[in-house]
Amino acid sequence: MIGKYANIIVDISHEKVDRPFQYKIPDHLLGTLEVGMRVLVPFGNGNKEIKGYIMEITDKAEYEVSRLKEIIEKTESAIAVEGEMLKLAWWIKNNYGSTMNAAMKTVLPVKRVMKSNTSRTVSLSVSREEATALYRQFLEKKQVAKARLLLALLERETISYLMISQKLNISPQTIKGLESKNIIRIDSQEVYRNPIKNQPEMEQKKTLTLNQEAIVASFCKDFSKGIQKTYLLHGITGSGKTEIYMDMIEFAIAQNKEAIVLIPEIALTYQTVMRFYKRFGDVVAVMNSKLSEGERFDQSERARRGEVKIMIGPRSALFTPFSNLGLIIIDEEHEGTYKSDTVPKYHAREVAMKLAEDVSASVVLGSATPSLESYYRVKQGEFQLFEIMERIGETQLPKVEIVDLRDELKNGNRSIFSELLREKMKDRLQKKEQIMLFINRRGYAGFVSCRSCGYVAKCPHCDVSMTEHKNGKLVCHYCGYECDHLKKCPQCASNYILGFRVGTEQIEELVKKEFPTARVLRMDADTTRKKDDFEKILSAFANEEADILVGTQMIVKGHDFKKVTLVGIMAADMSLAANDYRASERTFQLITQAAGRAGRGNLQGEVVVQTYQPEHYGIVHAANQDYESFYEEEILYRDLMGYPPVANIMAIMIQSKNENTAKETAIQLSDQIKKASVETKAVVIGPATATIGKINDVFRQMIYVKHREYSTLTNIKDDLECFLEEKKEQYKTVSVYFDFNPMNGY
Ligand code: ADP
Ligand code: ZN
Ligand code: ZN
Repeated sequence: MIGKYANIIVDISHEKVDRPFQYKIPDHLLGTLEVGMRVLVPFGNGNKEIKGYIMEITDKAEYEVSRLKEIIEKTESAIAVEGEMLKLAWWIKNNYGSTMNAAMKTVLPVKRVMKSNTSRTVSLSVSREEATALYRQFLEKKQVAKARLLLALLERETISYLMISQKLNISPQTIKGLESKNIIRIDSQEVYRNPIKNQPEMEQKKTLTLNQEAIVASFCKDFSKGIQKTYLLHGITGSGKTEIYMDMIEFAIAQNKEAIVLIPEIALTYQTVMRFYKRFGDVVAVMNSKLSEGERFDQSERARRGEVKIMIGPRSALFTPFSNLGLIIIDEEHEGTYKSDTVPKYHAREVAMKLAEDVSASVVLGSATPSLESYYRVKQGEFQLFEIMERIGETQLPKVEIVDLRDELKNGNRSIFSELLREKMKDRLQKKEQIMLFINRRGYAGFVSCRSCGYVAKCPHCDVSMTEHKNGKLVCHYCGYECDHLKKCPQCASNYILGFRVGTEQIEELVKKEFPTARVLRMDADTTRKKDDFEKILSAFANEEADILVGTQMIVKGHDFKKVTLVGIMAADMSLAANDYRASERTFQLITQAAGRAGRGNLQGEVVVQTYQPEHYGIVHAANQDYESFYEEEILYRDLMGYPPVANIMAIMIQSKNENTAKETAIQLSDQIKKASVETKAVVIGPATATIGKINDVFRQMIYVKHREYSTLTNIKDDLECFLEEKKEQYKTVSVYFDFNPMNGY
């Protein structure tokens, strides 16, 4: 089947370009066009010839065929980088729900905004004799400015443009005048800002261990045969994953390919970046949100010109305009930050796989605690698994102990430190070793639990924690189910059933009270507001300027704290009780990753996990460092409840400044979906008020739709978009956003 029509996006610089226009493919081009290709088309009433990109090729004419205009010609025979990126934008728009404009802004680099990065120089384009003669003429004619410029150029051969216009006070017109008479020449030279100022010394690559070697060899074998796959590298912290990535990259660039390395912003520390620089030197570039727009643009330009072969950065680095991309590495692939928190809410892992498929590149995902999504796909035979289960060198994995906080209460200990943790902290402080205390910030929304037996109030329909509301009710934020606040624990009848709220600041204070001589640092959203705060705190701790670091789940990679021998997880319950379906997975990750911080040096590390639910599988398997068993139990729960990765879930957020409008629209939309669900068999949950029901005076309602098939959900989304478009007038004060397989509860 050869498509006869092409849907084309024209004039991509235009703010309002949001839909493609359909054109007929002329006979001579039939079968030669591909999505992403650039073509010339007639546009508008005057049929002006403009360039456009093909987004779809189809057999279905959207209008009467006789009214369709024909494509004039294709302007390239292969898809250029920009076309590739637009193709990706199109896919993102369709797969996650957003306007084409928003999707294009996501994939295309910011346009140049600053001029100063072009340095222009001025020099003579006539001989010295001629210049001297001209200088005399100008003087005689009292053309002082021109004379002054020539004199300056006779003294020094090249002068910067800025110097001439500012220091010599010569107007641009004068300069231009001389240039147009071919007396002088202006050269522009682009000066790329390299964010890394000092070039580090180069470093030799390490000899890989047998395990590392086998993995790299297997990858290289596929790669050289042109086999593109997605690999999941499951390796515990400190097992040498980064070293493996670097060897894979080396292999790829030796074959004239380029590589993108995604690292969560928070782990993109100086140390991590330096490892890549030391290995590969100048062909490495870094993209991060701290760079100015100009710097980011420069980095992309360098990539476009082929000066850069390896781009390191957070999820946006995925859109580096490489023309020969061969490898995408996603380190810490389980991290929630790979999902965009603004529309389009794309997931970098999925987009990477789509891009890799389009350009024939390989994808390597790495993690000590793989996402359920990735491991599920390994089990389905879609990803190839590589495993390394031991650390490099002599360092042992830390010993993990679980403390039952219910017993502490029984024994009359009401402090936040269990006896065990307190004893161990004293011991480490005495030995001058370091301690890290973690608390999960997520649970802060306020769940309700029993301090006596560990019972957590959960929604009977969704099996997620209920949230305490100011009006005294407990509410489920998936389905909106409500009940009265519990007076007594339904499980053990104790009165100790209360809202659970504890934060880093509180822990810091209590630590200081309990251990007055200890030096304490705190790291959370409040103490890391400024650009370098994060790095500063970590360096201070690495330099042993503090004994105890209290922090949220800002798990750090790239820093080896050799002196940390004790990690305390203050209340694992806080992450277990987060009000979304990923709560157990996050808890498992928190404990495993935190444990990975302990004992990185020669000293044996220990981890103390405090919890009211010591028998919870998320905690038990994390303590045993047993990912596989955790996965088996968690996937059963996901399957049973119809949650990802076994099924798919689409969150729909309805926002309006008017509370009633938000609520009514939510009801109308959910009715619409329910009507169709006779056929689609989709499960509709809600509508319900979001966990944060109002932000900046905007009210937020949620609907969740579950279905095994992702495409059923995107179809529902498309239908809703049409429905909203048809009733534009009625819904003009409402905005509706989609989030597929959300990473966070709303
Ligand atoms: P991960 O990324 O899995 O946490 P890294 O690649 O950071 O692990 O390795 C942990 C430490 O071990 C690093 O200091 C690294 O330099 C070192 N290392 C890794 N592989 C080797 C090797 N083959 N020989 C010697 N040291 C290694
Ligand atoms: Zn109880
Ligand atoms: Zn519910």
